Order: sequence, then C-alpha cells, then structure tokens
Amino acid sequence: MSSSTSNTPTTDMDTTTSAQPSKSRINLLGMSQDKLGEFFKELGEKPFRVQQVMKWIHHEGVQNFDEMTNLSKVLRAKLNECAEVREPEVTLEKISKDGTRKWLVKVENGSCVETVFIPQGKRGTLCISSQVGCALDCSFCSTGKQGFSANLSTAEIVGQVRMAIRSLKETEPERQRAVSNVVFMGMGEPLLNFDNVVDAVSLIMDDLGYGISKRRVTVSTAGVVPALYKLAEVSDVSLAVSLHAPTDELRNELVPINRKYPIEQLMEACQHYLAGLGEHRAITIEYTLMDGINDKPEHACQLAELLKDLECKINLIPFNPFPGSGYKTVTDENLETFQRILYKKGCRIMVRTTRGEDIDAACGQLVGKFNDRTGRSARHQRRLEANKINVLPLKHEAPNSPVHSSERPS
Ligand code: SAH
Repeated sequence: MSSSTSNTPTTDMDTTTSAQPSKSRINLLGMSQDKLGEFFKELGEKPFRVQQVMKWIHHEGVQNFDEMTNLSKVLRAKLNECAEVREPEVTLEKISKDGTRKWLVKVENGSCVETVFIPQGKRGTLCISSQVGCALDCSFCSTGKQGFSANLSTAEIVGQVRMAIRSLKETEPERQRAVSNVVFMGMGEPLLNFDNVVDAVSLIMDDLGYGISKRRVTVSTAGVVPALYKLAEVSDVSLAVSLHAPTDELRNELVPINRKYPIEQLMEACQHYLAGLGEHRAITIEYTLMDGINDKPEHACQLAELLKDLECKINLIPFNPFPGSGYKTVTDENLETFQRILYKKGCRIMVRTTRGEDIDAACGQLVGKFNDRTGRSARHQRRLEANKINVLPLKHEAPNSPVHSSERPS
C-alpha cells in the first residue's frame, strides 16, 4: 500500500467559480429530463428544448443562456429572466503530491462540503458529498463528529460532478473523460437525503447528463435498511455497504444505526437489492480496519461466514487517523493476516490504498481538524481507556461548540 510516487508539490488555489445565488430564479442544474420537460411546458416551449438545454448544461458546461446558440433569442431572454444554471461555489482547491484533488464547496446554508478526485491512470474516481455533516455518528468517522447540518440539493450534488469535470478539463486537458467513476463516499449518509440523491444519481447516469454507467456510480450507505428497499424500487445504481464489523455487538459500537437495523436485517436488504440488479453485479462491502478493534483473525472468520452467501467484494480500508478519533490504524501484519484468511475462505477482496493524505482528502479525513460537537469521541476515548485498550492521545476536543466547515483549517 503506497500513497504516492509523484514529486509534484501540494498546491492550494483560491478559487471562486459560481454565480451568486438568486432566490427568484429556478436552478436548472439539478433538473431531470422530466422536471425540465414540465418547466419548458409551462414556458410554452416544445419538448425538444429539454435535450438542447441539458446538452448545454451538462455536456458543454455552459452557464450563460446567451451562449446556448441553438435557442431562439426570445427563449434565451425568457430564461435569463426566470432561470439560472448555478453550481455550488468552490472556495478552495488543493492538489496532493499524488495527484488527488480536493475542492471545498460552499453550499446554500453557508457551510462547506468536500469533493475529492482520485486519479487512476488516465481516469479516476470522484468522491462526492450528499449532506453537510452526518447524523449517523459512526465512531471512527470524522464527519460524524460534526453532527448533521443540512441536506444538499440535487443541484449541489450534481454540481460537484460538473465542477470537477470542468476543473479537470481546464487544468489537465489531455485527460479524456477524467471522471470515470462517481462514489457517494464523501460527507453524509446518501440514503438519508433520499430524493435528492436519487435524482442526482439518475442525472449522473443519464446520457443527457454525465452518461456514467450504473456500474461506475456507487451509493455508499451505513445501512439505512428501509431506504435500501426504497432504492431498489427506483434505481439500479451500484451499492456499497459500510459494514465494519461482523457481529451486532461490535457493530452497535462502531456504526450506531446498527442498533436500529441489525446485521441480519441489513443482509436481507442487501440480498433484496442485489436481486434487482441483474446478473454479474455485486455489492461492495466496506470494512475499515482499526487496530485491536475489528482486525483480529476471529473477525475475519466471522466476516467470511457472514458474507458467504452474498455476491460481494470486500473493500478493506485501513483506518485513516484523525485527531481525537481514539483509534489506530491496522498494522501491516494484521492487515495481511486478515486478508489471507478472507482469501482462503474464497472472498473477493480489495485493499483501498490511502491517497491524498497530505491534503486531508483520505477517507475519513474530509473535515480536517474538527470540533467534536457530539462529544462522542471523548466518551469513546474514556471507554477505551477504562478497558485498557491502546489509544491515541485525544488532541482536539470542544464539545458543543458550533462547527462551520467553512471555518475549518485546511
Ligand atoms: N455514510 C456513508 C458514506 C460516507 S463514508 C457510509 O457510511 O457508507 C464512506 C466510507 O468511508 C464509509 O465506509 C466509512 O465508514 C469510511 N470511513 C469513514 N471514516 C473513515 C476513516 N477515518 N478511515 C477509514 N474509513 C473511513
């Protein structure tokens, strides 16, 4: 596992890219074909306008209606009055020495979320956020420490994709279709912002949107079971499930939503989702490995047993430490043993390499330094100490202080 071989220095760019919000104009960026169809109908326009405008917005990256040259002047004037194409504003862009990029994106409520691009050869994966903060409070996730602030709109979610594609085209024009995969693994629990995420997913997959195939768009969930059944009804997007523990006892601690929807229910929901996906599809099981917590051989055996009937690939993620987390990452030796056990038991495994560490873009580092608004980190630390488990020193702790991502040091 290595993060980088490149010598390009980390770069910060102060950048502001979007128009000012306008309350009275309707933002066309987050509109599906159907919604745009209704919009043009109300304007007394023909349905083919949908295709024309979507191509301008999503394929050409045009923001200004006056540049949409195949629209009549009258329609352009009408659109200028009542509509806009507005991406969330980028307030900071950082480039890691390994090529990973992180953008700090300002959303409607004034807070910031993060979008990360991880290059792999000529292409790459874009990791996008769906909420400001997160309500699920997973014990090892830095976003959880912020608590929940707001859902992102469809335009704010899709806007991250549009912004990243445009930005990569501007700075690395030699890359063709640089964003080949999109994963909802940034801030937030996508299934708790269901409608906006589903609309965004369909726009990302739509040929008039970003045309990324269902196999290359992945929604990651901590296991909101009823929403998984709902998702199966409306989408065949790829699914990742953040499992992190093979037993309820351990998972209740790491992923508290497990107390509401325990592993058995989650596995049933996964089977149901998978059944709707059709052939040759698998679910990704995410398993973040923490030293002495969930990385023992017995955990690997239990995990293999739990997943033996599920068509899945297991994504092992070495824990990315952040100040005050109270956890340490898995040792190389334990990771290898864990992997070997799973492999011998016939599991498909991938180990996620750590990227973008120097810009706090690695998994779980998205908020950088944080204020522990929930106080959970401190409680957890005390419990581990009481149980005499080795922990990292708790460096940052400021329970109850409001946190604004935009105030975060980067
Ligand atoms: N709420 C969603 C998506 C966001 S998190 C979910 O839970 O799936 C994306 C993935 O990163 C999840 O698997 C999450 O558990 C993992 N993650 C969070 N913090 C991490 C950390 N510090 N180190 C490694 N993985 C982490």
